[in-house]
Amino acid sequence: MAAALITGSARGIGAAIALRLAEDGFDIALNDISQEMFENNDIADKIKAKGVQCEIFICDVSDHAQCESTVKAVKARFGSIDVLVNNAGITRDGLMARMSEEQFDSVIAVNQKSVFNMTKFAGSVMMRQKSGRIINLSSVAGVYGNPGQINYSASKAAIIGMTKTVAKELGSRGITCNAVAPGFIKTPMTDKLTDAQREAMINQIAMKRYGEVEEIAGVVSFLASKDASYVTGQVIEISGGLMM
Ligand code: NAP
Repeated sequence: MAAALITGSARGIGAAIALRLAEDGFDIALNDISQEMFENNDIADKIKAKGVQCEIFICDVSDHAQCESTVKAVKARFGSIDVLVNNAGITRDGLMARMSEEQFDSVIAVNQKSVFNMTKFAGSVMMRQKSGRIINLSSVAGVYGNPGQINYSASKAAIIGMTKTVAKELGSRGITCNAVAPGFIKTPMTDKLTDAQREAMINQIAMKRYGEVEEIAGVVSFLASKDASYVTGQVIEISGGLMM
């Protein structure tokens, strides 16, 4: 059976992706930064109910050494890593003039450096397998920019460059690397927005609604499937027609 590792998958988009890949038949390696995230949380049980294996690997994805040992542990548990979804991400919003160095650095570390960390180690497993799928969570903020998010949009734009670089470096080994760029999706991350911010956002969306986490998971499922075997280095916006 093939295995998928999804970072930041205790909740939100990551949990929806994990559930969808379980439905597709993958064994699932869940990850989040603390065990507490999985307490009072039935994501692992829901995955096992799909008839696949599931295990939780706690790791701070911004930490290079922790990522190395997590990848080793996932490989030892499942025998292969066929899909890596770099999903973990944070926001520390603020206008540039008022943003602290800590706000900037923490977002770059969790959103951007994590992609290097995980892809380096899981990519090396995939190179030995001569197959693998890497799917990165970018954002429309990384494509178009967003006021109040110089840190976040920098990290998400970097992910696009990293996606194309990895696609070029690993393509000859049968490994694809693509990114999805969600727009405004209903999750705890976007629950933090004010009503006014939400209203302003909806006005710019052609479909006049927020996206659902399952709508991101569906595209990730496609990128992990046989049907996407010749798709690499691409960025797919999933935004209901935001900012066309
Ligand atoms: P979310 O609900 O906040 O989930 C992200 C998960 O990642 C959380 O469980 C979080 O744990 C975990 N995490 C944070 N730092 C971590 C670390 N250092 N190591 C391991 N796990 C860590 O976010 P989401 O809305 O589902 O977003 C998922 C991804 O999609 C992110 O990369 C985000 O940037 C991207 N995205 C989301 C939207 C949207 O509208 N929601 C739009 C575009 C892109 P803690 O809660 O403990 O921090």
